[in-house]
Amino acid sequence: MPASALDDIRARIASAAKASGRDPAGVELVAVSKTQPWEEVEPVLSAGQRIFGENRVQEAMSRWTERRAEIELRLIGPLQSNKTREAVDFFDVIETVDRDKLARALADETQRVGKSPRLFVQVNTGEEEQKAGVIPTEADAFIARCRGEYGLTIEGLMCIPPADAPPGPHFALLRKIAQRNGLSKLSMGMSGDFETAVRFGATSVRVGSALFGART
Ligand SMILES: *Cc1c(COP(=O)(O)O)cnc(C)c1O
Repeated sequence: MPASALDDIRARIASAAKASGRDPAGVELVAVSKTQPWEEVEPVLSAGQRIFGENRVQEAMSRWTERRAEIELRLIGPLQSNKTREAVDFFDVIETVDRDKLARALADETQRVGKSPRLFVQVNTGEEEQKAGVIPTEADAFIARCRGEYGLTIEGLMCIPPADAPPGPHFALLRKIAQRNGLSKLSMGMSGDFETAVRFGATSVRVGSALFGART
């Protein structure tokens, strides 16, 4: 199932892109392999998928250390500032920069090692209490501090809309915040709404269960 699910997802991304006048090559698929058993992940890797997303630093390291060179790896789950060293060392992209303490820790660590993963700021577009991310009204100021005070290069924005609301307005809001801050990358859309996200300008979509099956 996974390899054909991969073809299916890629085809759906491509048609959503074309339907909105976009080049399908402008939308990356991030395969979210968190908690999946290796027998679900391996066929997708073998079929040529090269960008994977993980929620937890430790889990990502135990799954991917041996094959790290083969793939691009993105951290899409909350990062505790005491895990910054491992995360900077292990990930190509950290999509969940969302508070000053973390931005400061990333600044210190990237200066220490002389390299930085690509960074996204996570925005809590639904202002949900249980969810990570900077709230929309704080986003401009936080992005400015990341750039100015902490000297970080921010590549784009990421959001996870509320589960029980139409995602379109959240994707539109994320795009608006990105545009006014001169950011071109938008990580938005998951299994249930990635085609909508592509229509709203996603440059990467994060797909787990539609690709690998339900997580247990
Ligand atoms: C788990 C997760 C996904 C993938 O969710 P699916 O609905 O299984 O596609 C995407 N983004 C984030 C941040 C996640 O935690």
